[in-house]
Amino acid sequence: MDQKLDMIEENYKLLKEEIGKAALKSGRSENDVRFMAVTKTVEPVYINRAIELGIDLIGENRVQEFLSKKDDLNLKNVEKRLIGRLQSNKVKKIVGQVDMIESVDSVKIASLISERSIELGIRTDILIEINIGGEESKTGMDKSRFLDDFYKISEMKGVYIRGLMTIPPICENNYELRKFFTEMRDMFLDIKSKNRDNISMDILSMGMSGDFREAIECGSNSVRIGSALFGKRNYS
Ligand SMILES: *Cc1c(COP(=O)(O)O)cnc(C)c1O
Repeated sequence: MDQKLDMIEENYKLLKEEIGKAALKSGRSENDVRFMAVTKTVEPVYINRAIELGIDLIGENRVQEFLSKKDDLNLKNVEKRLIGRLQSNKVKKIVGQVDMIESVDSVKIASLISERSIELGIRTDILIEINIGGEESKTGMDKSRFLDDFYKISEMKGVYIRGLMTIPPICENNYELRKFFTEMRDMFLDIKSKNRDNISMDILSMGMSGDFREAIECGSNSVRIGSALFGKRNYS
C-alpha cells in the first residue's frame, strides 16, 4: 500500500474541518469557501486520490506541467485553474484548456488572453492578481496602477473578471498578515460595490497551506492548498 494515499485522505479531512471552522468564525459556512488543491509537482495518482475524496477544483502553476499531466487526471466535474505566472508565449497553449486564469497581473497579458479567447470563440474567466505587499520580486499587479489597469481589462471582450487573487509577503506576525488580507478584502468589496459592467466580483482567492485560516477569517472565499494536502513538494 502506498502510505501517501492514506496521508492525503487524513490531510483532506483535517483541512476540510479547519476550513469549516475558519468560515464559521467569519460568519459563514464551510460551503462558502472553495478548497483548491494545488497540484504542482504532484503526480496524477495523488491528484486523482484528492479528486476521489471530494476535491472539485485544482490549480497548476505551469502551463507545460498541466498539459502533460491532464490526460492522466479524472477531471470530470473538476474545475481547473492556472495560478502561476503566465508568459506571453504560453497564452495560446493554455487558453481554452483551463476554466480560469487566476494570475493575470498586467494589461498586456490580459489583452493576449482576450485576443486568443476571441479567436476561439470563448470568454476566459480571470482573476486579477495583486502584489499586496508591494514586493519587487513578486508577481501581481502594483497597487498604484490597480484601478486604472483593472478598468482597462474590464473593457476587453474576451475576458471576464471574476475577482482578485494574492500571495501576501512572508510576515513576521499574524497582525501584519491580517493587515494584508484585510486590505485585499477592502479592495475587493470596494470594486464589487461599484457594480460595473463586464465584471462579476465574486471570488477572493487568498490563503495557502500556512495561512488559510487567517485568510478565511479576513474574508477569503477561495483557498489554494498544496503542501498541507499532498505533503512537502519534491522539485527534483
Ligand atoms: C504553490 C502555490 C500555492 C500552494 O502553496 P502551499 O503553501 O503548498 O499550500 C498556492 N498558490 C500559488 C499561487 C502557488 O504557487
